[in-house]
Amino acid sequence: MVKAAVVRENSDGYVDIKDVSLRPIKPYEALVKVEYCGLCHTDLHVAAGDFGAVPGRIIGHEGVGKVTQIGEEVTNLKVGDRVSIAWFYSADGTCKYCVTGNETLCRQVKNAGFSVDGAMAEACIVDAKYAVKVPAELDPVQATSLTCAGVTTYKALKEGHTKPGDWVEIVGAGGLGNLAVQLAKNVFKARVVVTDGDPEKLAAAKEHGADVLINRHDDDATEQLLAQTNGGVQVAVVTAVSSQAFTNAVKALAPAGTLVAVALPKGEMGLNITSAVLDGIKVAGSLVGTREDLRETFLFGAEHAVEPIVRTDKLEHINQVIDKMKAGKIVGRVVFDFTH
Ligand SMILES: [Zn+2]
Ligand SMILES: [Zn+2]
Repeated sequence: MVKAAVVRENSDGYVDIKDVSLRPIKPYEALVKVEYCGLCHTDLHVAAGDFGAVPGRIIGHEGVGKVTQIGEEVTNLKVGDRVSIAWFYSADGTCKYCVTGNETLCRQVKNAGFSVDGAMAEACIVDAKYAVKVPAELDPVQATSLTCAGVTTYKALKEGHTKPGDWVEIVGAGGLGNLAVQLAKNVFKARVVVTDGDPEKLAAAKEHGADVLINRHDDDATEQLLAQTNGGVQVAVVTAVSSQAFTNAVKALAPAGTLVAVALPKGEMGLNITSAVLDGIKVAGSLVGTREDLRETFLFGAEHAVEPIVRTDKLEHINQVIDKMKAGKIVGRVVFDFTH
């Protein structure tokens, strides 16, 4: 039996802490003793049944732990390896998306903590081929956030084909935006402008290396941005859950610029067709990241090029933490500690 956080029967947005027995592992699988697992807004959506009700499901997709058992046919992992459990849990490995570097778009994708049991538990079963190793030099608590927010923002900057010296706009300076600023500066060597409506979040972005700050409540926010970036940005990564933020980000693009959509607000963005054609504007959606993207993100984390804000807590407090997250009262990530 393992202690686990499971979705309630009525999907009321909270979880129950229960003793759950995991099934025996099959060939190509491994059993992981979880050390740490971060709680993400996606987990809150799962607990509330927003993606479809999954009562009894163990949540959690920002997990890190050590392999304690490997199934038959497993050759890439051994007992004692530290691995991650990510939202991208597994795919079929054979379709056109999987074989062209787009495995997160596989139509047979499985998601940890939603379509299969996740990592908010003392132990978790993984598909060995899809469990990415965590480098020894990387702090395992920080690794939990890189498994989700870190790889998501890293992939978004890749999708924007960010080059050294480019101007990158990070729209939204919350948990995702903060990591995006660090990665854009320290990994992609870009110049960074951050747009947000909260002066405290803007100040935090400045501490993490943002070159220009724009308060989106200013009437002339777009004009300020165009002036300070010499005519617009090459890449805009939108992490703000607001369709208006997407429309504004389009207006901030330089010719041949790319808008990378990461946040998931309901609704549509405004894209003027004439300027899209005349200015060669591109729009790209970006969803988490592949195993290789995660491997790279972990390496940059090990080099301290990106450092998520994390603090640990006990699993018993998870529903209180859920309340605080809903109220927007948490800076960084709360990570549950299974090592004690
Ligand atoms: Zn997450
Ligand atoms: Zn596939």
